[in-house]
Amino acid sequence: MVAGRTAGLHGIGPRAVRVKAPGKINVSLRVGPLREDGYHSVASVYLAVSLYEEVTARVTEDAGVTVTVNGQGSLNLPLDQIPLDASNLAARAATLLADLSETSTGVHLDITKRVPVAGGMGGGSADAAATLLACDALWNSGFSRDELAKIAVDLGADVPFALVGGTAVGLGVGDQLTPAISKTPLHWVLVTSAFGLSTPDVYRTLDDLRTAGGNEPLEPPEMDPKILGAMRAGDARGLADLLHNDLQLAALELAPELKDVLQTGVDAGALAGIVSGSGPTVAFLADGADHAVEIEALIASTGLQTAVVHGPAHGARIVTDFVA
Ligand code: ATP
Repeated sequence: MVAGRTAGLHGIGPRAVRVKAPGKINVSLRVGPLREDGYHSVASVYLAVSLYEEVTARVTEDAGVTVTVNGQGSLNLPLDQIPLDASNLAARAATLLADLSETSTGVHLDITKRVPVAGGMGGGSADAAATLLACDALWNSGFSRDELAKIAVDLGADVPFALVGGTAVGLGVGDQLTPAISKTPLHWVLVTSAFGLSTPDVYRTLDDLRTAGGNEPLEPPEMDPKILGAMRAGDARGLADLLHNDLQLAALELAPELKDVLQTGVDAGALAGIVSGSGPTVAFLADGADHAVEIEALIASTGLQTAVVHGPAHGARIVTDFVA
């Protein structure tokens, strides 16, 4: 699967590189018409949050890409739903980078998952972004961040943002990123679900609902500029009124129980709640760090699985590399 010379195997480069990359919430996600390429145009305001995936890429004697996955953190993740073959998004990222690199080696990817699986928080995308950065360092490929972000588009619309992190507006399919300023952290309580939702299914359901209602959009969507103002000011109360997700309607159609989850968070005192991306994770906005802890305790007491996070969080970053 991976071609090329074995530069790092007996050379002086690192034999292993560990990279962290964040999950995300879409603070606003407006979905436009279905494009000819089968994707929807979107206007997305991404916020990277403090729930990080970790990928350790290690040089192997044998050619090819192998993957293992382990879970960490407070969330009980269904790791058995993650493919360990070439279809794993991290494996695809390593294969793609190997093809583009002058030298490459066999590589083992050990993924530590903390982001909900099929949860609408871009966990697989974070794994792919982390892998690109790790393999670039492992093989001395020498791609710049911008070049890696361009390569990342081929792996998925959310992968470039996991590289960049912070806060950004995403146009096109979400991949045309413009970083935005937001210095004051925003605090959130996540409620995860025991089941996942398939992103293509959620988009298809939205299309069906729009067709049935005769309200299909004709133009690519635009973003409400007030959102960026509220995020820049760290104005959680102002932002609460502006949270928006066109996919929420479709996620609620596929998983009606999420309506109760949204109500539980509002009853617990959250400023607002929103389905994250294609769901089913629900994100509740709190009025500060202490408030987030209070809300979380109330929501968790109803038996739901919760996590407190904040954002903006940094994008993909090398944590350690070792020659060993
Ligand atoms: P999206 O970025 O489409 O919003 P998501 O956050 O809802 O995705 P992910 O956890 O990224 O969901 O993964 C969606 C599906 O992709 C999983 O159900 C799984 O079958 C497959 N998959 C492939 N590689 C990975 C990976 N490294 N981690 C998680 N899922 C993966």
